[in-house]
Amino acid sequence: EKRDPNEPEFLQAVGEVLQSLAPVADRRPDLIDWGVFERIVEPERMITFRVSWVDDQGKVQVNRGYRVQYNSAIGPYKGGLRLHPSVNASIIKFLGFEQTFKNSLTGLPMGGAKGGSDFDPKGKSDMEIMRFCQSFMTELYRHIGEDTDVPAGDIGVGAREIGYLFGQYKRIRNTFTGVLTGKGLTYGGSLARTEATGYGLLYFLREMLQKMKHEPVAGKTAVISGSGNVAIYACEKSQQLGMKVVAMSDSAGYVYDEKGIDLAVVKQIKEVERGRIKAYAERVPGAVYTEGCKGIWTIPCDVALPCATQNELDLAGAEALVAHGVMAVCEGANMPTTPDAAEFFQKNGVLFAPGKASNAGGVSVSGLEMSQNSMRYSWTFEEVDRKLEEIMKGIFHAAYTAAEEYGCSGDLIAGANIAGFLKVAESMKAQGIAY
Ligand code: NDP
Repeated sequence: EKRDPNEPEFLQAVGEVLQSLAPVADRRPDLIDWGVFERIVEPERMITFRVSWVDDQGKVQVNRGYRVQYNSAIGPYKGGLRLHPSVNASIIKFLGFEQTFKNSLTGLPMGGAKGGSDFDPKGKSDMEIMRFCQSFMTELYRHIGEDTDVPAGDIGVGAREIGYLFGQYKRIRNTFTGVLTGKGLTYGGSLARTEATGYGLLYFLREMLQKMKHEPVAGKTAVISGSGNVAIYACEKSQQLGMKVVAMSDSAGYVYDEKGIDLAVVKQIKEVERGRIKAYAERVPGAVYTEGCKGIWTIPCDVALPCATQNELDLAGAEALVAHGVMAVCEGANMPTTPDAAEFFQKNGVLFAPGKASNAGGVSVSGLEMSQNSMRYSWTFEEVDRKLEEIMKGIFHAAYTAAEEYGCSGDLIAGANIAGFLKVAESMKAQGIAY
């Protein structure tokens, strides 16, 4: 705390993880002797840099760029780039810290990293976005590489931005390598990346319900918040597995459709027209739209899948869900559940899956994109999807088993932290105190 007094998000994330690692510290004095706890909370490298670019009016603009290369114990640094005005050192460090454990849980050889800029992409022209991305990469290129650090997208960085970043990297280095993931399918992207986080969430849920409640997912009713990438593909897989999704939302409100959401209509509104979820109720007879998004949790369901944004499911939402007999909550977004709400679910016997484990499908397929790039080969959609399913089952079992072994049976928050930590910690110890 003395070292980072101005980094509340980072301190919060570190505090929460260290708390759940207490049973590990009790049992593993060797890790204390090797300074693993002290070392893991300090990023290996934090880079900040100036990003200057010229806007459409010919005016010079200056932003700040970041890349935290958090931990490389188990593989090259890997994590997304976020473009949003809220980006600062604390947020980038907190995200890089969490990414280290998430990547470890996937079982793939990926270290932890995160990066981005306080640049606001909203309202910028394509050319402005391109000039920003080129300027950003003109500094970042010297710090990354296919075996060093492989950035990906995050908020504000989608296929368009990855394309501009990749183009600039290739131009400077004169090499065509898998230095970024989330690339377009015509130049090295992976099939099933778009679907990966949502599909992975459902593979995790299915395994969790089977193992911990001996229940199938088929026949269950679900409420899914959001209607973006994660929410849409979570809905698609839910329906493929025989569940009924009765509600979805955006930042303005939510729709309830007791017959079950017609996903083709949602995709048309959100992916094609880039419109509002409200339009769903105008097109589908019987569907009801309600202004304001938090009320979505008052809809009775067996399974709640928060897939929109951080802190969207608070204690009031959790109380409403429990009152209606919710059986499981699986986080599709990053940190969508407030800590008091998560605790309330666990105390009331609701299965709770933290995003670090249950939304790791996206970064897993990014890892598979790296493998395909290294082989200069592409797997089919089915091959990637099958591997994704295996990885998600593996993540569930790693978290479940770690919780059992460390005396907190059924607590997947602690289990995910412990399992993710142990692999990184063993590797840090094995590699000695080199830095
Ligand atoms: P998108 O931008 O595609 O979608 C976000 C959705 O959430 C939009 O429908 C948005 O509505 C809605 N939303 C935003 N704020 C609220 C709110 N307060 N209440 C209800 N809905 C809201 O993002 P993604 O689907 O890609 O990401 C969603 C979450 O999942 C984020 O936390 C992200 O970090 C996380 N995640 C994403 C991964 C991926 O592969 N995409 C991987 C792992 C985690 P509106 O259109 O009104 O803004």
